[in-house]
Amino acid sequence: MFSYSGNDLYCEQVPLADLAARAGTPAYVYSSQAILANYRAYDEAFGDLPHSVCYAVKANSSLAVLALLAKAGAGFDIVSGGELYRVIQAGGDPSKVVYSGVGKTAAEVGYALESGIHSFNCESESELNLIDALAARRGVKAGFSIRVNPDVDAATHPYISTGLSRHKFGIDIREAAAVYERARRYSNLAAEGVSCHIGSQILDPSPILEAVSKALELASALRAEGQPIRHLDLGGGLGIAYRAEEEAPAIRGFVESVHALLRESGLTVMIEPGRSIVGPAGALLTRVLYRKRNGPREFVVVDAAMNDLIRPALYHAHHEIAPVRRNSLPPITADVVGPVCESGDFLARDREMANVMPGDFLAVRDAGAYGFVLSSNYNSRPRVPEVLVEGTGWRVIRQRETYPDLIRGEVV
Ligand SMILES: *Cc1c(COP(=O)(O)O)cnc(C)c1O
Repeated sequence: MFSYSGNDLYCEQVPLADLAARAGTPAYVYSSQAILANYRAYDEAFGDLPHSVCYAVKANSSLAVLALLAKAGAGFDIVSGGELYRVIQAGGDPSKVVYSGVGKTAAEVGYALESGIHSFNCESESELNLIDALAARRGVKAGFSIRVNPDVDAATHPYISTGLSRHKFGIDIREAAAVYERARRYSNLAAEGVSCHIGSQILDPSPILEAVSKALELASALRAEGQPIRHLDLGGGLGIAYRAEEEAPAIRGFVESVHALLRESGLTVMIEPGRSIVGPAGALLTRVLYRKRNGPREFVVVDAAMNDLIRPALYHAHHEIAPVRRNSLPPITADVVGPVCESGDFLARDREMANVMPGDFLAVRDAGAYGFVLSSNYNSRPRVPEVLVEGTGWRVIRQRETYPDLIRGEVV
């Protein structure tokens, strides 16, 4: 939903130069149509196979984004009590929420039980023990899945690979059946499903399908032993094309492969996509402050920095950087850097890019996932606003922080 008309970059029907001038920069901008289209691609490709698309809130947890997805019928995958609070504030249905994560606290589990979430994706026996005790105290039964670690290599960046046995995530799939068996003694727990999530930004989905096959085998074995397993949760992880020359797996094709594996299983399919729904739907708008040269190296200094978008610094991630207005000058090769006092503060290195001048706007593409949510106030920089585009209109869905916001809650 980001494309040029003439020399001007648009998000839907909104020229980004106008938006940047009026909302100020840096600013995140999201296409509501793109978010909904990606969500629906999952939802529709499952067809009549019983399914639930649980958007992974951690990818982009802004209320308006959650509200958009809640209205479209999405469930949610959360990893903290704070995310559950956001889902509820946005009008999401707690009974469509699954709760993942290795370190749920008693307070968080209690809040989730009181809110009536669908189920917990549990990652250890001590966690099962805690949830049972807290459910007993409230006189409720808690649905759970065990997140199995299938020992499958997601072939992605090591920080976002989670499905190998050396990672902290899940319970070894070979031990899972015994854990489900022991969990029968917990009278306030009800086995609901089997879950797995092997990592993020996965460009070749075959490891996900391998993990699904292993999880399916386990689910079938558990059912044969009389465990009331009703769903299989595949996690998220489908990658997106950050580089212009990259090809991301199509959501539809991926879901069709899952469909083929699970069609006869009698299980409800749950899936927890985050990045593939919101990633391509967002961009970070920034303004060029200065051009400078150090020896042979050319720098484009912009007003956005690593505190606004940490992915290049943290994962050496690539984001395409597009001029908001194209000019006819020959391209340059430059580092795009921000104002933060660290050499790690770059948005791109050695990048062939438009020959931009101070005052020009740039769009850092595919920044809708793990963008704003990972932003911070480092260098006492107020966090940037977020804007949602809807057709010809747009609105600020989070205001730019002010200096007083920076010191809220502090005392001298
Ligand atoms: C992060 C995460 C997701 C979402 O991953 P994406 O790569 O953004 O689709 C889903 N499930 C769990 C358990 C996660 O930790």
